[in-house]
Amino acid sequence: MTNKKSIVAVAKENEIQDSVTKVFDLLGGVNNMLEPNATVVIKPNAGHANPPESSVCTNPEVLRAVIREVKKANPKRIIVAEAAAIGCDTIECFKVSGIEQVAVDEGVELIDIKRDKDLITVPVRNYKSNIKSVKLPRFLLEAEHIINLPILKAHASMVFSGALKNIKGTVQDKVHLDMHRQNLAMAMMDVWYAVRADINIVDIINPAGGYGPHTPVPLHVGCILGSYDPVAADLISCDIVGIDTNKVDYFKVAAEAGFGTIDRENIEVIGKSVEEVYTKMWIPYIGGMNRWPEYNILAENACSSCQALLSLNMEELKAIDEYEKNSGMTVVIGRKDSIPEDIPKEKLVLHGNCTRKWKDRGMFIEGCPPAEPCLYMTISDGKVVDGKNGQLGEYCRPRMAKDAPVWQEYVNKKAEEFYKEHGNK
Ligand code: SF4
Repeated sequence: MTNKKSIVAVAKENEIQDSVTKVFDLLGGVNNMLEPNATVVIKPNAGHANPPESSVCTNPEVLRAVIREVKKANPKRIIVAEAAAIGCDTIECFKVSGIEQVAVDEGVELIDIKRDKDLITVPVRNYKSNIKSVKLPRFLLEAEHIINLPILKAHASMVFSGALKNIKGTVQDKVHLDMHRQNLAMAMMDVWYAVRADINIVDIINPAGGYGPHTPVPLHVGCILGSYDPVAADLISCDIVGIDTNKVDYFKVAAEAGFGTIDRENIEVIGKSVEEVYTKMWIPYIGGMNRWPEYNILAENACSSCQALLSLNMEELKAIDEYEKNSGMTVVIGRKDSIPEDIPKEKLVLHGNCTRKWKDRGMFIEGCPPAEPCLYMTISDGKVVDGKNGQLGEYCRPRMAKDAPVWQEYVNKKAEEFYKEHGNK
């Protein structure tokens, strides 16, 4: 890092295109930012097959505005690329999110990274997770510019998802899965090391609070933010929607990795100030694994997948009115060398293969990670629900379908209470 301040540009104009253009202008103007005749890869977040109004994926109109801005610099190629979340088909995600239509309208290439065969292995120097190398598409590595275009949203294990996390969508499923089976923040740093997008534009038009990405609650903020520094971009994005960055572990990891600054003295916000656009967003994930004091949660060493499942399942228990009834139970996720001796079997839930060693001591839910609803169903039923031997299709899915409206109603009510209490301030 040099002593130069990281610039973060913020715009809030009436039209999305005007905000995007303003951000590029504040960062130096698109013709100065992009090399002539360049290949420009734009990496939106199109990780799930959700429609634009859900705010799970980058707003397609923000993508359109960025493409139109990039075209002003006469690039050789514009490629919109993504590898959707594990279990999601990128092509379907492009379609449902509205991103495919924008690419067609604007005449740019659309590439599903998951299906790309021309991959290059990039070693990760000083890797922080167990990701020693990353296979990345040749077109991505050979592009002159990568524009990272995430939407800001709540995220179960990271608290929020923004610039740095969006780059996770440049790797195929195997690495993606590896990333979730360990400290996700560290793994994200390793992938970022290999990819290093040079421009970050964050969609804060209608960011998603609530239990995103599963059950998002979009909020209108109307902003576009841009920076060359992904960490500063994430930090100021959080400031804009009132996320207490001291409670987000990822920032320390990112600063230590040297990908940007978390020192506000070294960040200059230009365009609109944070105060001018500040809109408080409901992010229930703040507070980490201590949010259920009525239960004994042993979650150290658990990776992001099991943490996210714990988070959703504990709230689901509240939604279906089974939380208090079962208070006092112990839930274990992640690898443990020991667990307390005196817990009765029916009061101990062992979630995930990491806890297999203790399987005779309590209700062991197999899987790495286990299927999504198994934890709340095991706790509320008082017996193991692991989705095996046809149980997922015959019991879990129908029950989830029955519980879904109750869950949605619970989330809506919580959001309403939050905004009633806090307004947007
Ligand atoms: S069981 Fe859970 S905590 Fe253990 S590696 Fe698998 S997903 Fe991670």
